[in-house]
Amino acid sequence: MTTRARGREDKAWSQDDGGETGRSEHPDDARRWTRREALALTGVGLASAVLPLACRHPTETRRTDDMEAKAMKDDVVDVVVVGGGPAGLNAALNLGRARRKVLLCDSGPPRNAAAVEVHGFVTRDGIPPKEFRRIAREQLRPYDVEVRDVRVMGIEREGSGFCVTLEGDRVVVARRVLLATGMVDVMPDLPGYRELWGKAIFQCPYCHGWEVRDRPWGVLATNEMLVDFGIVLTSWSRDMVVFTQGAVTVSAEKRAQLERAGVRLEERRIRRLVAGSGEHPLEAVELEDGTLIRRDVLFARPPQRQVPLVARLGLATDEQGYLKVSPQGETSIPGIYAAGDLTTPMQAAVMSAAAGALTAGGLNHGLTLELAGAAHRG
Ligand SMILES: Cc1cc2nc3c(=O)[nH]c(=O)nc-3n(C[C@H](O)[C@H](O)[C@H](O)COP(=O)(O)OP(=O)(O)OC[C@H]3O[C@@H](n4cnc5c(N)ncnc54)[C@H](O)[C@@H]3O)c2cc1C
Repeated sequence: MTTRARGREDKAWSQDDGGETGRSEHPDDARRWTRREALALTGVGLASAVLPLACRHPTETRRTDDMEAKAMKDDVVDVVVVGGGPAGLNAALNLGRARRKVLLCDSGPPRNAAAVEVHGFVTRDGIPPKEFRRIAREQLRPYDVEVRDVRVMGIEREGSGFCVTLEGDRVVVARRVLLATGMVDVMPDLPGYRELWGKAIFQCPYCHGWEVRDRPWGVLATNEMLVDFGIVLTSWSRDMVVFTQGAVTVSAEKRAQLERAGVRLEERRIRRLVAGSGEHPLEAVELEDGTLIRRDVLFARPPQRQVPLVARLGLATDEQGYLKVSPQGETSIPGIYAAGDLTTPMQAAVMSAAAGALTAGGLNHGLTLELAGAAHRG
């Protein structure tokens, strides 16, 4: 159901289950608050009658008027950015520099939590993910950007703006929302996979290929594109095995192509991934018949899904489940923008950061015109 479809008459406020990213499971909170309860709990209830009016005709002067002052002035912001990865952080930076009042909420941990270093980001090549975020947050300090380590549980239309419910039942009123929640990698059932993700199983050779160049590599090919990927990866290692587990029909022409590239095709089913130690966290791939194929590294693209908060908004997606956005980064719900992994399968930290900057620009452009128009109308 969309926020729009949910409508102002619908009293049910859903609480995000927060099992956001496969990164950490959050206890499923089945409690459903009425809107009145939620507003009363947060103190915003005092002004619940006037906030919709303020949201519908947002102007800079209204922000300081008596009504909004009653509505806990600190909890009325221009933009709530949901997600503190590269997309959200760079969006917040650009919005802050455009003199917007921003609240950035991040529940963590990041999608690349399992990785030791971030690569392929100019000036930041080899930086640990935590350090990347620490520096980014530090650089937000000069601006009117507040960062809170908190999960966003729900987003609901309120006039021309939004009521954003945070974990702990606090409600923030925002003129715009920018979603930068990344994607959840869904780990397959294969024994050993989850433990080796980010250590010996990687999703992107540009990010992690250099460090393991010329070692024995494999590709877990769940579709035809990933069979081709086995050939692309030979620019990092010539010792390459494509594992299809019989799930992909490989044409005679493709077999010949793989052979010419020196890529071995293994179609038998995999029983488990055998862990190693130290420099070699993966020792081998064990097939169902007990055959061990020694590999140091596997490349794979596990399925992905949106975090529950985004899934529940009912935003338009493409056939792969990524959010559709306009060139300005606006989703199918006016006023809700999105940037980063959740909008595209072309995923990298630097691309998410760039998308965050672009979307911040698009959002600020539209918001400024709207505020100027409202001020002009008086
Ligand atoms: C193992 C691994 C290694 C990688 N290595 C590299 C690399 O070396 N170089 C590179 O360029 N790319 C790398 N990537 C890809 C890169 O990490 C992603 O493309 C990038 O992090 C996406 O940025 P993002 O801001 O869109 O989303 P994310 O970084 O996923 O950030 C989203 C944030 O939103 C938060 N969030 C989610 N739901 C909520 C909510 N309801 N409320 C509040 N917060 C919420 C999450 O906790 C998270 O912190 C790697 C990916 C993986 C999985």
